[in-house]
This record gives sequence, C-alpha cells and structure tokens, in this order.
Amino acid sequence: MKVICIGRNYAEHAKELGNKVPAEPLFFLKPDSSVLAHRHPFYIPSWTNDVQHEVELLIRICRNGKSIQPEFAHRYFDALSLGIDFTARDVQAVAKANGHPWEKAKAFDGSAVISKQWILIDSLDSQWESIPFRLEKNGEVVQSGKADDMVHHVHHLIAHVSKFMTLKMGDVLFTGTPAGVGKISDGDLLEGFFNGSSMFRVNVHGE
Ligand code: ZN
Repeated sequence: MKVICIGRNYAEHAKELGNKVPAEPLFFLKPDSSVLAHRHPFYIPSWTNDVQHEVELLIRICRNGKSIQPEFAHRYFDALSLGIDFTARDVQAVAKANGHPWEKAKAFDGSAVISKQWILIDSLDSQWESIPFRLEKNGEVVQSGKADDMVHHVHHLIAHVSKFMTLKMGDVLFTGTPAGVGKISDGDLLEGFFNGSSMFRVNVHGE
C-alpha cells in the first residue's frame, strides 16, 4: 500500500506558504511506515521544532490502474475519509531551499493520520464535493474546506498520478490541505470532522 499526497491543491493554502498554485498537480509519497496506528498518540520527533498539521480529504483506490483517463477516474475510488499530513515545516524549508527531496519532512514515522472510518462514495449524494470537513485543535476550528475548493479535481489527480505510477487497490490519496496549517505542541488534541461527524482524534506528545 502506498500513500500519495498532493501539494498546493487549495489556492489559499499555497498563498499562505508563499507558493504559486502549480499548473499541474504536485505530488509526493509517504511509505506505509508513516501511517500512525489507530488510537496512538503522535510523538513530535526530536529533530524538528515545527511540525504542522495539514488536514486532508482522503480517497481510497479500489482497483489497479495505469494512465487512467479523467472521465473514467470515478471507477477507481470507492470511499473517502479524512487524515492529517504531518509536516516538519522547518526541515521542509531547508530541503526546498536546497532543491532536495521532501521525505525527511513528510515521510517520517507517524506522519500520516488515516481515519479508521471510510465513507462509501455511493452512500453520499452526488454532490459530495460540497460536504464540509474541518480540523479542530483543542476544540477550536483551525482548518476547514470542501473538495469543491480544490484547484485540481480528484478525477484530474487520479489521471495525473496514474500517468507516472500504477495505482493499486488499497492505495490512499491525500488530496491537499486548505489554508490554516499551523504548528502543533505537546498536549494538543487534534480532531477531524467530515460532514459534522468526528473522524479521528489524535493526542500530540512533545519531547
Ligand atoms: Zn499535505
């Protein structure tokens, strides 16, 4: 199973980090070892001073496919969920400045929160792109969005990524984060909601 993450897919978020919205989707991978075990706390690694939360809608790939055309992309995912793409922003900034890959900042252990709950697309109405999601930190809303706000539609993301690598059943696509990313600290409680329902709760522990 692989985790594919899209970067800069919400215009307001690209702006807050001083980035341009890319003409084509930007993506990177997280290994299976990055997935945080359910109900486990997240431990801030010792080598970073700025881990930030990025709440994201997740898409579950349900069949293998390569070079998928956008008009057929809907056949390749069956469920959606919510997660966090934890990012060591300080380490990422150094990597970006040096033109280095992002793995140290993005692919470390525990950096992928994936809700245990998957919602079948068929169980939602056809306007699922307008269903809101949000992240609360210690009970306060810090990020909110909906798929409608994405720069590149999910169908386009699937078409683009599958041009370069085969998508396999069980792969998870992180579709990018809306504005409002921020630093986490020891003792924080992060809770994600989709359509008003709690999807995950993660306790943050510092060094
Ligand atoms: Zn992200």
